[in-house]
Amino acid sequence: MRPKDTAVTVYKFGPKSVFVFSDHAVALKAWAHIRQTAGVPLILFTLDHHTDTHDAFIGYGVRMNGSKWNDDWRKFAKERIARVDIVDPEAIDSAVRDLENDEHICAAIDLNILEAAFVVAFSPYPNGGTSSEESKRVAPPNLITAIINNLNGITIPEEPLPPRPHTYVLPSRRVFYLPNQCFVGCNSQPHTEECRRPHADQAIETVFLDHKLEYCDEMIASLGYRSIFERPYILDIDLDYFQTKAALSPCGPNAFYRLIRGAAAVTIALEPRFVRLVRIDEDLESDFCFDRVKKHCEAALGSCSEIFNL
Ligand SMILES: [Zn+2]
Repeated sequence: MRPKDTAVTVYKFGPKSVFVFSDHAVALKAWAHIRQTAGVPLILFTLDHHTDTHDAFIGYGVRMNGSKWNDDWRKFAKERIARVDIVDPEAIDSAVRDLENDEHICAAIDLNILEAAFVVAFSPYPNGGTSSEESKRVAPPNLITAIINNLNGITIPEEPLPPRPHTYVLPSRRVFYLPNQCFVGCNSQPHTEECRRPHADQAIETVFLDHKLEYCDEMIASLGYRSIFERPYILDIDLDYFQTKAALSPCGPNAFYRLIRGAAAVTIALEPRFVRLVRIDEDLESDFCFDRVKKHCEAALGSCSEIFNL
């Protein structure tokens, strides 16, 4: 078990709570609290550099399994999940301390704190964002036909995709990855290092977030909803999502403000080490990102009226 600061500071902007902590795993504590207030499992909409969707308690399970990486770790992880009482603050604190990096989302889903998660991240995604229409697209010919075609210079055009909206199947882990190959409007193919900064700069621009929300609407239909805005949801932000200073001063902040206002609560992971690790602007720090995000919360919700610890 590694030492972990499980402190959560709550900022009240009018009736809305913004929960702030250093280590992203501590989100589990804030989310358990929000779940109690909401009375139902919530949807998570998370903005993060990394996808943070490892299975829950892998590190713990492997440790209890004598550091062996065979499948037996799952037994210990399952037992650990079963021991968490989400209304008991001490049980939650102890669970948070047993979580490794990137395990909090799946833990919250396993614990029925979250109903499902929608992830916007900059790091490469697992293959989790394929619509049924994309999967059904006519498969390429078998290998021998493909070789013969290739020798004869025959290229078979790919079947065009039907227009959107597409349909999605609810993934078994209830985690949806929203497509984020590049900035909205980029025509480069493939995307290059030149794309990196303009892509990062678009992080909370309306054009960018609306693009993610369109996909979110298509995906959330698999849960029987039309939009996250008709469900209680948590807007979760890991500050390492911001890689440039420009990203924190969007020209069009309306979609970001709509997400803040519509959320049951906002959670923010400061993660100063990861901000430094993935930043493009060499002097970007977590403190600066937090200050800017707080100003956006004020712009969306009104001034901060109260601060206390959870
Ligand atoms: Zn690009």
